[in-house]
Amino acid sequence: MPALDLAPLFRFVLVRTSHPGNIGSAARAIRTMGFTRLELVSPHRFPDPEATALAAGADDVMGSVGLHEGLVDALAGSTFALGLSARRRGVNLPELSPREGGAQALAAAARGEQVAWVFGNERTGLENEELARCHAMVRIPSVEDFSSLNLSQAVQVMAYELRMAMLGDDLPEAPPLHEEPPADAEKMERFYEHLAQMLDDIDFHKGRTPTTIMLRLRKLFQRAQMSERELRVLHGIFADAQRMAMLAGERGRD
Ligand code: SAH
Repeated sequence: MPALDLAPLFRFVLVRTSHPGNIGSAARAIRTMGFTRLELVSPHRFPDPEATALAAGADDVMGSVGLHEGLVDALAGSTFALGLSARRRGVNLPELSPREGGAQALAAAARGEQVAWVFGNERTGLENEELARCHAMVRIPSVEDFSSLNLSQAVQVMAYELRMAMLGDDLPEAPPLHEEPPADAEKMERFYEHLAQMLDDIDFHKGRTPTTIMLRLRKLFQRAQMSERELRVLHGIFADAQRMAMLAGERGRD
């Protein structure tokens, strides 16, 4: 049986890229490994002749680049996001090697899920808020005292590892039965917005700033990989909690 073409299920997301040359080099890097989907979140300059020059003819990638204002938009439709980072950040995500990341991503794709690889800005890397939208962090095991690769070279390493995983003998040929796929990034974002609003409405924070607890809760729910049906149950619970808080508020004013 011929192997499924899983390549279209993968996208490479570059967040707030400063140098257009890196965008072109990244396009070339993924194209050499059989991938074509490149999504850009608020690039400083794009389109740009430098990007076109360094893409070196990866026209199909460049022609279909997606431009987005925020990361959530760029992740729409994906259910598994892996954030590439040279350093551990405040967000305590599971850390994978490129090889482990490649294997897990391939397993998700074999179930028909879409997978995103997320890369940060050249100088500042990925912010905590951006990593919090990922399910795991991938670190390329560079040396500690000079750990940061050029952005497009990090893209090349990951695209290569993924291709190696796809060329491997253990490439799944048919998707295994999967009960219900996890909800995609946009639905998760609506869920986090509702969660935040509900916590406000029931006065959970009591004057404390919600940033840390929201990052913790994100981590918890990202790990749970909930289906849309499970999300609907939680939305229902939150709505009831909000309704009760409103009733209690009204009674308090009587
Ligand atoms: N000073 C930044 C480096 C950014 S390099 C930082 O410390 O995060 C630009 C991007 O390339 C990073 O955001 C990351 O996505 C990727 N990258 C560079 N080196 C990497 C490494 N060793 N492991 C994983 N990703 C890396």
